[in-house]
Amino acid sequence: MPQTYRVTLLPGDGIGPEIMAVAVDVLNVVSQQHNLQFEFSEALLGGAAIDATGSPLPEETLAVCRQSDAVLLAAIGGYKWDNLPRHQRPETGLLGLRAGLQLFANLRPATILPQLIDASSLKREVVEGVDLMVVRELTGGIYFGEPKGVFETESGEQRGVNTMAYKVSEIDRIGRVAFEIAQKRGKKLCSVDKANVLEVSQLWRDRINALAPEYPDVELSHLYVDNAAMQLVRAPKQFDTLVTGNLFGDILSDIAAMLTGSIGMLPSASLGASGPGLFEPVHGSAPDIAGQDKANPLAQVLSAAMMLRYGLDQPAAAAQIEQAVMQVLDAGYRTGDILAEGMAEGMKLTGCQAMGAALLDALRG
Ligand code: NAD
Repeated sequence: MPQTYRVTLLPGDGIGPEIMAVAVDVLNVVSQQHNLQFEFSEALLGGAAIDATGSPLPEETLAVCRQSDAVLLAAIGGYKWDNLPRHQRPETGLLGLRAGLQLFANLRPATILPQLIDASSLKREVVEGVDLMVVRELTGGIYFGEPKGVFETESGEQRGVNTMAYKVSEIDRIGRVAFEIAQKRGKKLCSVDKANVLEVSQLWRDRINALAPEYPDVELSHLYVDNAAMQLVRAPKQFDTLVTGNLFGDILSDIAAMLTGSIGMLPSASLGASGPGLFEPVHGSAPDIAGQDKANPLAQVLSAAMMLRYGLDQPAAAAQIEQAVMQVLDAGYRTGDILAEGMAEGMKLTGCQAMGAALLDALRG
């Protein structure tokens, strides 16, 4: 009997449906080879949901996501919905989905693929071999802490306030996720904080240290966030897994992503305490190229691989997808976004569908 998984698909807007179609084809081929069965249900999110129901996150969508084993999202948003009031905008749907699934851990890998090394704005010798993962706390910290708001002082001056706050339970649960991911990767974890200045960061550091004895095979280090930002650009190869809070992670995960230089290649995962994880590309809905068969589907396909590895515990199937991506890049297939000028020789400018077909060929051997 194949292992069966219920997967909710949220194709969303713009290039979303095009790249999702490729990922579904890939999952179907991989499922046959690994004795898995996917029961896909498709639901509305973002602009597509606004057009159909008036809401960017219809109740049925949240309900079907909650009942599934994993949620695969493409991207949402577009010019058409840009001028709606905030609560009706596509992004509000995505934020609502993340909150509704209680996703507290955001995983953003940054891997330099040898075939795309010239896409990085950094020198080859600095980025060659980079393979790191940023684990960001997603539901606490300064974006959610109270008090927050703009208040009036006694002298009548306006004063803006946000509060960086973390409870021990919040630090411990993200810490455990990060240690476990480090165990599955290179067994090195760097925790990033600002413990020299912030009390909340000192608590963060103390708790991460307290967890460390449970993971004796993981080498733990700490960096202040300003140093971590410098080190990521100066010598990124020193990192394997990084863990940090919401604000620092927001910034560091974008720096890490840009080491690779290719937005169409970057997947992500968000995990909750229980219930399904959400797997999605880092990029948006690219309305400028939607419907033109120009989109790079590889970030979506690599998000499906993350779903298999971190959501469904099927690392062999995930690795097969990642190898197929390497194979099509080795064979010279390039969508426009990764066809850097000056490297066109031997490369094949490829559309979204043709990239999908090349992946299926690679998977079937
Ligand atoms: P974007 O990531 O959609 O596009 C930025 C640039 O990268 C564009 O030139 C686009 O063509 C290109 N690009 C992105 N993904 C690509 C791919 N797979 N293949 C080839 N080229 C690709 O960011 P943006 O233009 O700032 O935003 C467009 C819309 O997407 C907005 O409505 C925004 O709110 C939304 N958005 C959604 C998400 C999400 O769904 N998680 C994230 C970011 C932006």
